[in-house]
Amino acid sequence: MKIDFFQDYTMTIDGAPAKSNTTFDAFNPATEEVIAKIPDASRAQLEAAVASAKRAFPAWSARPLAERQALVAKIGDAIEARAEDFMRLLTMEQGKARKGAEWEIGGSVIWCREIAKQELPMHVAERTETRTVETRRVPVGVVGAITPWNFPVLLAIWKIAPALVAGNTMILKPSPYTALCTLKLGEILCDILPPGVLNVVSGGNDLGAWLTGHPDVRKISFTGSTATGRKIMASASGNLKRITLELGGNDPAIVLPDVDVKETAEKLFWAAFQNSAQFCVAAKRLYIHEDIYDDLAAELVSYARTVKVGDGLKQGTDLGPIQNRMQFEKLKDLLSDAKTNGCRFLLGGTVSDEPGFFVPITIIDNPSEDSRVVVEEAFGPILPLLKFNDLEDVIARANDTEYGLAASVWSKDIKAARRIAERIEAGTVWVNEIHTFSPHVAFGGHKQSGIGIENAINGLAEYTNSQTLVVNSA
Ligand code: NAD
Repeated sequence: MKIDFFQDYTMTIDGAPAKSNTTFDAFNPATEEVIAKIPDASRAQLEAAVASAKRAFPAWSARPLAERQALVAKIGDAIEARAEDFMRLLTMEQGKARKGAEWEIGGSVIWCREIAKQELPMHVAERTETRTVETRRVPVGVVGAITPWNFPVLLAIWKIAPALVAGNTMILKPSPYTALCTLKLGEILCDILPPGVLNVVSGGNDLGAWLTGHPDVRKISFTGSTATGRKIMASASGNLKRITLELGGNDPAIVLPDVDVKETAEKLFWAAFQNSAQFCVAAKRLYIHEDIYDDLAAELVSYARTVKVGDGLKQGTDLGPIQNRMQFEKLKDLLSDAKTNGCRFLLGGTVSDEPGFFVPITIIDNPSEDSRVVVEEAFGPILPLLKFNDLEDVIARANDTEYGLAASVWSKDIKAARRIAERIEAGTVWVNEIHTFSPHVAFGGHKQSGIGIENAINGLAEYTNSQTLVVNSA
């Protein structure tokens, strides 16, 4: 089927395109122009999608693993074949610049191919002539997947690939802010997957709530904010759905005094501002040892001045706008709070009136530990630099948050850095590097940053139940 990526966005229900009676607008965040109409699924359409996934489940789960793996690898091929269209559309709807779009779409291809190689081993507890006791993994059933607006394609693939390899069927609901690429993904996969294996529905938060409360949905895999994660956990309790929640973070980066300041400044800049800091694992609190604080702050500011913020579709742009007005207004409010409370801005801080949801790269000089820019997850390019001189103190400050997603430690003294890393309450702690993800490495949050794991065998296992088979042949 010939698919035009830049018009006619339809949902995918039971292997066929589905329009809706009502639509809502998709905006380009760099220009604030309406770029498309997004179908707004009715409750009946959600019911149809769930019924379709339920019908498709017996045949899909019974298919040999190798066939499911091959089809998931083919999803990667299909994305690769339309990579240029995906990247352009991703920039148009999300705002990210070309390099970021390449990372996300290229990553999606790799994830499909690599997850397609995974399988869960069976555990044999006993095998004698007359008796076997084995624990194997069986799929859960119909999975509801809900994704956010910062990495709409990659984070959907993190769910689709393992869920389908494990033998589940799915209803995928993208964020209403970034539904376009996901809708096109559903459309192109109609040629690859049997009807009902992957349904894609778009709509607002109500649609998400219908999905998480649906009695025929047996698992929810959610990526988004901690506030929504709490609601989902409550709503999933009706039929004791399995849940995987990948939620917010307020990641600390701890910088010891022995680092090469210039080199580390550049790495820390990207650690904090990649994807315009709309990144769950962005370094959001930068703890710098007082001996190098002034030098590192100066290097960060000077590097930041070389980075171009603008329309992601224009050549030479490094960082795009904030993805949506809601987040844009939230960031403006955070900036005004910082100003009211006397924070000192080393860079940025003033939002222009030009069209587009642009927030300048903003670096704040040692605000108080209880200020909103430190305590809250900004999810935008506002970075507090914080001074420390005592390791025990900085570890306590780093851990003094409801979040526990990730962290990083920077030092030439690997032993010292490792000792600190081991004491950070977070699901991933990087030492002297950051944001290196792999389909074969477990990722998940501690504390209120989430429940469960994505990626690796651990992530695959989350789409299964254990089944113990005891067979007596005596
Ligand atoms: P959000 O929680 O507002 O929305 C996420 C998704 O949930 C959207 O699809 C939304 O429509 C849906 N939703 C909203 N209310 C719902 C409800 N009551 N029931 C069911 N679904 C509902 O999050 P966001 O603003 O899109 O994303 C930003 C957040 O996501 C940040 O906090 C960020 O840290 C987090 N995030 C976490 C990870 C991770 O892997 N841990 C990755 C990316 C983003």
